[in-house]
Amino acid sequence: MSVYLDHNASAPLHPEVLEAMMPFLKGSYGNASSLHQSGRFLRSAIESARQQVALLVNARPQQVMFTSGGTEANNTVFKSLVMSGTCRGILSSPMEHASILEPLKQVQQQGCRVGMLAVTESGVVNTARSQEMMDEFKPQLISLQMANNETGVIQPLQQVMDQSKTVTDCLVHTDATQAIGKIAVDFEALNTDFMSLSGHKFNGPQGCGALLIKQETLPLSILAGGPQESGRRAGTENVALLVGLGKAAEIARTKLLERQTYLLELRRYFEQQLVSHIPAVQIFGVDAERLPNTSYFSIPYYHGETLLMQLDKAGFALASGSACHSEVTQPSHVLSAMGIDPDLALNAVRVSFGMDNQKIHIDQLIGTMNDLINQLPAMIRQAAVS
Ligand code: PMP
Repeated sequence: MSVYLDHNASAPLHPEVLEAMMPFLKGSYGNASSLHQSGRFLRSAIESARQQVALLVNARPQQVMFTSGGTEANNTVFKSLVMSGTCRGILSSPMEHASILEPLKQVQQQGCRVGMLAVTESGVVNTARSQEMMDEFKPQLISLQMANNETGVIQPLQQVMDQSKTVTDCLVHTDATQAIGKIAVDFEALNTDFMSLSGHKFNGPQGCGALLIKQETLPLSILAGGPQESGRRAGTENVALLVGLGKAAEIARTKLLERQTYLLELRRYFEQQLVSHIPAVQIFGVDAERLPNTSYFSIPYYHGETLLMQLDKAGFALASGSACHSEVTQPSHVLSAMGIDPDLALNAVRVSFGMDNQKIHIDQLIGTMNDLINQLPAMIRQAAVS
């Protein structure tokens, strides 16, 4: 079994979450919309889960619409806006996840204007320029992630929220998929109109999440049919998944401080070790506020995918920043938006820690990386480390 260091991709299911789900997978059956006892039991389990999710982000249970994850929550906002027939334009950032950027392309094809906020080299939206862009673009919706999945950089959402108030009738959405469970998130205080989250990013099950809705500003009914989710998302609920999501939310809320402290300690230790053993390493977003568990870096002359595969062989599961499109490896769109040199961007590798990681794993990882670097030809090795 390898050391899992890819929690931003998906975090393992918490044993207590599985335990909470089991009765709904094994014993109980029925349809939560049925009026008989079994239906009522399932309904009450769903509503408890809704409360647990609401509590985690300081929202009201009625503001929680369950979805199949962050992707659906993100798509719902844009597509509802376009379906409402009034899309004046959407302003977002070029560092967003594909589940924002791809539906944005779709709504653009349907005639909705789409603009992108400027980004600094540290991976933060450039707030010195965003006001000007908003005034010029006059968006109907701004969609900005709370934290980036690659760099872990936390975005200046509050500032962007404040700036958006100068635009008439401008809604704000945040994709908080990577932030939930890693930093404190207060939906009421933040006051965005919409917020997306996904269960498996905080040790819940895959395939469930939620869209938080401040109030009914849009007719959110991408999936039309039955009356589930107050008529906003039709289809028989997957009760076991929702119960799991609720339990994961409860654990994330009660353990948040402990998790934050522990993960930050691991990341600090890792980056100290990394810099001291490989001085030429470049850590992305290092000057910005970041998620406590995420470290994204490049070693000069060491291709990210090669390093990833070699580390995989040696028993470590990490992520690389590049993506393979039509057999050509492309640098990460996040690093490109930050203006990082494509050669360096192609070397990017991400470590994202979880509560199952320990300092010993870091020592082992650094040791293995050192061994790999020592196997490089002398000239390249020199440039990679000095
Ligand atoms: N947004 C961000 C920032 C993400 O990192 C992810 C998952 N990688 C998603 C949205 C999509 O979440 P899901 O795949 O669970 O729908």
